[in-house]
Amino acid sequence: MKTINETMNQKQESHILPEHVVTKLFPGELPDEEEWKEKYPPRKLPEGAMVTRLGPSPTGLMHLGGVYASLISERFAHQTNGVFYLRIEDTDEARSQPETTEVIVKSLYFFNIPVDEGMTISGEEKGDYGPYTQSARAKLYQTFAKKLVEQGKAYPCFCTSEETKTLGEQQMKDGIRPGYYGKWAKWRDASPEEVEAELAKGTPYVIRLRSDGNFENKVKVHDLLKGDLELSENDIDKKIFVPATGLPRYHLAHVIDDHFMGTTHVLRGDEWLSSVPLHLELFEALGWKPPEYGHLAPIQKMEDASKKRKLSKRKDPEANAMLYQEEGFLPEAVVEYLLNLANSDFEDWRKENQGKDNREFHLTFERLSRSNGPLLDFVKLNDVSKEIVSHLQASEIYDRGLVWAKQYNQKLAEEMERNPDYTKDALNIEREGAPRPRKDIGAWSDLYAEIGYFFDSIFGEKEPVSEELFGTAKDDRESIVNAFLETYNENDTKDEWFEKVKDIGRKLGYADGAKAYKLEPEKYKGQVGDVAKIFRVLLTGKTNTPDLHSVMKVMGKERVTQRLKMV
Ligand code: GLU
Repeated sequence: MKTINETMNQKQESHILPEHVVTKLFPGELPDEEEWKEKYPPRKLPEGAMVTRLGPSPTGLMHLGGVYASLISERFAHQTNGVFYLRIEDTDEARSQPETTEVIVKSLYFFNIPVDEGMTISGEEKGDYGPYTQSARAKLYQTFAKKLVEQGKAYPCFCTSEETKTLGEQQMKDGIRPGYYGKWAKWRDASPEEVEAELAKGTPYVIRLRSDGNFENKVKVHDLLKGDLELSENDIDKKIFVPATGLPRYHLAHVIDDHFMGTTHVLRGDEWLSSVPLHLELFEALGWKPPEYGHLAPIQKMEDASKKRKLSKRKDPEANAMLYQEEGFLPEAVVEYLLNLANSDFEDWRKENQGKDNREFHLTFERLSRSNGPLLDFVKLNDVSKEIVSHLQASEIYDRGLVWAKQYNQKLAEEMERNPDYTKDALNIEREGAPRPRKDIGAWSDLYAEIGYFFDSIFGEKEPVSEELFGTAKDDRESIVNAFLETYNENDTKDEWFEKVKDIGRKLGYADGAKAYKLEPEKYKGQVGDVAKIFRVLLTGKTNTPDLHSVMKVMGKERVTQRLKMV
């Protein structure tokens, strides 16, 4: 009797196409496996070093989930003295948009997620395992697609896409699991003669994996995040290579690349979880050890007060990583927010380690959000950002705000550049040394609303202030402003200034404070806050600003007088 192994070998051998047919399937010279091994030797890294990667398909915008996965991958690599690299997975020519690569590179750069290898912001690639764009690695994939065919582990399929579509529809109708597998895999057991006949006719073909799997069997998979899982074996004869384009499909490409690029840990979206059995089968067919996989649940947001849903590329502007750059969010704020989504003890660490570089925080797989996707709370993110800005010096806000404004708000940039000291003085109100520094700037785009009014050209663009904003009759406003201008001395201390404001109010029937007014409202027209509001609105067009006395001091007598006269 034959052993099981002998039977298996015989089975495989019966599928092996003769060399001259394989040569027709893969015409032309190809480097052999040894050459590739020499070109991409194993990495020399310390024990325990992780090699991680981001493998985006450049098909549109960079999703915040991509930033999240990159950040985690990068941190794991670097906290273990490993390597984080960027590989552009563009083998789907129909869907690839080369310009997206730039968006991906820019996003990683913006969020300070350094890549050790792959495309860089200068437009040059670095690293010894390149090229790092799959479409430029065609020969590598061809060597191994051919090898699989030579070994009978893959085969050519001449079905048209129409045919496979009809097959799927028929299977659905018959209540059968759809797909190109088992007895429905028409070209799986074709004879060399049948293959040659199609080749002679010039029929287009693809290369499919000859799956050994049985859907009824389970494969045990240990996922770094989801734990021990049992998934059905793959039994689909997946398309793995498309000779017409000379390129593989994603599944084969990433297996070959993760092997030769020495990836140890793959962290990616959990939409790939169901493909793991296929990926493991491909690694086995090629005789390679697979990396460890960790599948991240997608970032979610609240749809309304009670319902969560996946953050959507189409519906949610905050899913777009570029938005954070365009709006001038502080990359460190977004990074810290994402670190906290990844490991919720980050927040405590941050409290105990004020001022420390967040790279000193150690991420762990154990504390990563598992099955539930982390929840993005944009308001909280904004608060984290405001908190960080509130501790920055005015000169830093000026410098960083200006870099942003030069790209996204020319008008503001011009004014800031023309008046650096004035801008810094404006920014400094209620900041350095203030007991409670103001928290009105969460992103550089807030600068326009928060300090724009200091500049006459921006202030002049504002819509005329509406009557309701003042809450005081025009006659009274005029009397108040005139009285103020008569006694206004720009060198007054805050106390002197406030005394004058109260005095003006008193004479015109306004209480000294909110308390006095509340006690006897019938006695007054209002209180000193209403008086100050008139100045505030005339000077800034807003009812909420930092300390008014300081605003006036920074604006200077001429500007204050001019604006107040517009009463
Ligand atoms: N190219 C795949 C994507 O963009 C990446 C999958 C992976 O990381 O293995 O979703």
